Amino acid sequence: MSTNFNNKTVFISGASSGIGLASAHLFAKAGARLILLARREDKLRNLAAELKAEHNTHSLVFAADICDRSAVEKICANLTAPWSEVDVLINNAGLALGKDKAQSSLLDDWEKMIDTNIKGLFYLTHALLPNMVKRNQGHILNLGSIAGRQVYAGGAVYCATKHAVKAFSDALRYDLNGYAIRVSCIEPGMVETDFSQVRFKGDVARSSQEYIGIQALTPQDIADVLFYCASRPAHVNIQDMLINPTAQASTSLVHRQS
Ligand code: NAP
Repeated sequence: MSTNFNNKTVFISGASSGIGLASAHLFAKAGARLILLARREDKLRNLAAELKAEHNTHSLVFAADICDRSAVEKICANLTAPWSEVDVLINNAGLALGKDKAQSSLLDDWEKMIDTNIKGLFYLTHALLPNMVKRNQGHILNLGSIAGRQVYAGGAVYCATKHAVKAFSDALRYDLNGYAIRVSCIEPGMVETDFSQVRFKGDVARSSQEYIGIQALTPQDIADVLFYCASRPAHVNIQDMLINPTAQASTSLVHRQS
């Protein structure tokens, strides 16, 4: 087991907020150099400056939309050593949009979820995997969800995207069998981040309802899990981990204090 990430390169997509941001702090503290990708450049630059001041972290910042295949390919193709030697890839960028029944949902929302949660994750993995194979080293940590195991009303396409992340993670393990490359699928239940504000498109009243009466997970809780998986000895691959708040038994059974 090594909790020392000195001289290790950790690539985090969706590092500008929530789980990705909390993970950046944790891996920086452990000595990693970081590649930080998200669309909001100001947030990434502030984070990089903060981590430099706190831990002397070296970061590369990429303000990019993960749905833009050629942008993702260009970013990865232009990485030079040691940045090109990605030891840990945290495929975290993702979102839900809307919670209406399928028959009343917007097709544009469905496309955005598919493009981000599935295709964006595939683009980044596809771009970085050859070098992991060449080095016979690496760890891919995909952010799935409890929604990748169970479905719920109003979540048809979000659940479908997270089922895809789960299937992709499982199949990658088949293709990479024989290489020293680990693949983990981390599947949180309710985590209080900007996730619901994004889902309800800035409707603060609606998004805060999601967390009323329940102590949700924090982004740090999930960052801890990601760090735990990445810091196991090289022969240990934690394939899946489902993490719920204690008050959440399933996607639809949540105990709320009145
Ligand atoms: P969050 O606070 O909204 O963070 C989402 C991150 O993804 C942001 O950094 C955002 O950055 C980035 N992102 C979204 N679309 C992007 C795009 N097109 N290109 C590049 N970056 C993009 O939400 P979170 O809760 O931390 O979510 C992180 C992951 O955990 C997601 O995959 C989500 O599905 C999963 N998850 C969340 C929960 C939960 O309850 N919160 C539960 C299970 C799984 P920019 O906006 O700056 O681009």
